[in-house]
Amino acid sequence: MKASPVEQKELLRLQAMDTKIQQVEHQAKALPQHAELTALGRTLDASRTVLTSRTGDVEDARIELRRIESDVEVVEKRIQRDTERAQHTSSIKDVQALETELAALGKRLTALEEIELAVMERLEEKEALVAETAAERATVTAQVAGIEAERDALLQDLNRQLGELARDRAAIASAIGADLAALYEKRRVLGRGNAAALLRARTCSGCTMTLTGSDLEDVRAAPADDIVFCPDCGAVLVRTEESGI
Ligand SMILES: [Zn+2]
Repeated sequence: MKASPVEQKELLRLQAMDTKIQQVEHQAKALPQHAELTALGRTLDASRTVLTSRTGDVEDARIELRRIESDVEVVEKRIQRDTERAQHTSSIKDVQALETELAALGKRLTALEEIELAVMERLEEKEALVAETAAERATVTAQVAGIEAERDALLQDLNRQLGELARDRAAIASAIGADLAALYEKRRVLGRGNAAALLRARTCSGCTMTLTGSDLEDVRAAPADDIVFCPDCGAVLVRTEESGI
């Protein structure tokens, strides 16, 4: 393929633009906020599991408390009923039986109230643990929101830069013939980083290989409007007065 030396030099400007675009794209992918958000996401996942388990503990304690409260209610009603009966009976035998039962019910009530108190204390402890986890999660969630805002601001700036670079690139590309542009694009896909490189002091500025022997002879012999390639990295080698050949 042939292309004028002027057009070949445009490939270097195109390559410089593509290198800049790649750098900005890499910056966007490598923002430290990405890793920070991933780590915080894991923290939130872990604390969600803890929160679920602790909320379950609270539910269990509440169910236990309701059961004991209902047991207390049953015993209190029986005490009330037996007390009324004892007041209204004239049978000494019945009174004695009721008093025995009341004494047993009194003991049972005291025991239940002790258990009720213990369960209430446990419930409070479990509720405090839920509140603690919820507060931790709120702190992390706020951190996430802050870092997301930072990330979004940085990405917005990088995207703006990419937009400008894309416009500049299009302007350069429009001055390059379709065949040469197609060759360049093909090299970009197949090559190792650079599709076009300046030959400076007999050295490919893409891969830093210095041309010697028959490689150098071939490039020297090629007419100025011939497209030549780096024998090492395959980039289009653009010859200028700096090439030293
Ligand atoms: Zn090279």
